[in-house]
Amino acid sequence: MHCHRRGAVRFNGGNRGGGTKEKVLLIEKGNKLGRKLAISGGGRCNVTNRLPVDEIIRHMPGNGRFLYSAFAIFNNEDIIKFFGRLGVPLKEEDHGRMFPVSDRAQDVVEALAKELKRLKVEIRFNTAVKKLLMDDEKILGVRLEDGTEILSKSVVVAVGGKAVPQTGSTGDGYAWAEKAGHTVTELYPTEVPVISKEPFIQARTLQGLSLRNATVSVLNKKGKPVITHQMDMIFTHFGLSGPAVLRCLQPIRRQRIKEKWRCAGPNPHSNIDRT
Ligand SMILES: Cc1cc2nc3c(=O)[nH]c(=O)nc-3n(C[C@H](O)[C@H](O)[C@H](O)COP(=O)(O)OP(=O)(O)OC[C@H]3O[C@@H](n4cnc5c(N)ncnc54)[C@H](O)[C@@H]3O)c2cc1C
Repeated sequence: MHCHRRGAVRFNGGNRGGGTKEKVLLIEKGNKLGRKLAISGGGRCNVTNRLPVDEIIRHMPGNGRFLYSAFAIFNNEDIIKFFGRLGVPLKEEDHGRMFPVSDRAQDVVEALAKELKRLKVEIRFNTAVKKLLMDDEKILGVRLEDGTEILSKSVVVAVGGKAVPQTGSTGDGYAWAEKAGHTVTELYPTEVPVISKEPFIQARTLQGLSLRNATVSVLNKKGKPVITHQMDMIFTHFGLSGPAVLRCLQPIRRQRIKEKWRCAGPNPHSNIDRT
């Protein structure tokens, strides 16, 4: 959560190295920054992608077109240059995926924290924001859990989603967004591994087997592929994972809704094998 007494800087620095004349306060309810980033990409952090912007947007689950305006200001090539400037050179892997040469997501977190320091961003740890202060027209600031109110010229809400809540992202922002008049669409997991009841999975026959450049398709009830991804995948003790499988999550979910599959309790993916 960032409050800008004047002007703007985001955790990823968000500026083009020019620094800032504005005072920025970053409010973090945890005792450190970037806990989710540090575990991203299996601990290697897939920072960005070097494919052409149109390709990246075509592969975005759902409608990625909204990204055009953001990419018009700061695109994937800018991100690569930005991290290079911060001393985190990136290397290209399959399908244009860009990772730190060091293979350490922690290097990304540390470089961003160093950039905040260079930009003199004030950071308050162990400080939870309770709500946004707003009038009919605009956001005025925030109220903290302890009742303190901080007024500011602008507020950037970057409290994350709901995935891996132990990293601090407990979905606090959704209620604030709704209060501010936004519509929060149905929340569901995406880019997560798939659980399967197939006997050979249950028997862990293939557990740990990884396949390079495997062709993975989501089939409809008639056995016709609705989408196919060719990337790496791995058999786990509970099902399937790896980039090719993670990209199949949205089409699986859409197919299930389309074919009116009933979600079975806390283990929504147990019906996967029948799609
Ligand atoms: C397992 C996994 C792997 C991933 N791999 C990749 C990858 O390789 N590449 C990639 O690009 N993305 C990856 N992602 C997604 C990426 O991690 C997220 O998109 C990114 O972390 C979102 O950043 P954020 O700053 O919006 O939110 P978060 O990283 O969730 O940060 C939100 C911060 O806000 C704080 N906060 C929350 N509520 C409050 C409050 N009320 N008051 C004050 N502070 C608050 C939290 O403590 C947290 O520090 C992965 C995600 C997961 C779960």
